[in-house]
Amino acid sequence: MNIERSQNEEAARLLRQRQEISSQDLFLARLTREEALQIVSASREQPPPSDSSDSGILQDAVVGSNLQSPSSPESTTSYTELRDDALTCTRCGLAESRKNVVFSAGVEDACVMVVGEAPGANEDDTGLPFVGAAGKFLDLLLATVDLSRERNTYICNVIKCRPPGNRDPMPDEIKSCSPFLTRQIQLIQPEALLAVGSFAARLLTGREKTALGRMRGEVHNYQGVPLIATYHPAALLRNPKWTCAFWEDLQLLRQVLNSG
Ligand code: SF4
Repeated sequence: MNIERSQNEEAARLLRQRQEISSQDLFLARLTREEALQIVSASREQPPPSDSSDSGILQDAVVGSNLQSPSSPESTTSYTELRDDALTCTRCGLAESRKNVVFSAGVEDACVMVVGEAPGANEDDTGLPFVGAAGKFLDLLLATVDLSRERNTYICNVIKCRPPGNRDPMPDEIKSCSPFLTRQIQLIQPEALLAVGSFAARLLTGREKTALGRMRGEVHNYQGVPLIATYHPAALLRNPKWTCAFWEDLQLLRQVLNSG
């Protein structure tokens, strides 16, 4: 048994123990495995939902056709071209205060794409998403379902430059930057998306007014790609009782991948 596999099994064992001793904190899975697989199959055959009653600036920023122009990220043809474009981007005011553009981590032939909100201080310093304590916790949890940024996972944020003081991104910043994410998803072509945190979950599901807790436990559909919404790893560090719920969401993600 190699070291990585041993660590994965140990992490899974610890999480199972936590699940057993804190059952009152757990969200029960809302779908059986069969129900999840049916939804996944259907989502791959159907176009995205057109109901926009719960959508707003976030979803408009992602799918808005007015963003497509010869100079927009959505018109960029190759991954290298897109990345180079982002690394020198000055499309919004965040370019003035950033140290580094945080484009991505992980592999380009990933089966899973993890999407968070925006870089923090550690990410701004290093140019890599999900570093520091939250990033390490994310890596540990992903490992329990055999996912890692070294082998099969791609990690990025909706916003590529750090908002000063970690404030919430502004609508114009979302509108300027989200076409990069749109194009990343098109180019990476993941088998499934994992939106971590309410910001990414609301943007990618288009359910802007829905609480994250109500989006969990379902398989959503982003442009034909199955999407699971869950907590941000930084939130898990602040609220450890959510860790088991995150792990349950990873189990659903694994079911989706195994059904493909
Ligand atoms: S946040 Fe996005 S749109 Fe704004 S400067 Fe950075 S890469 Fe460009």
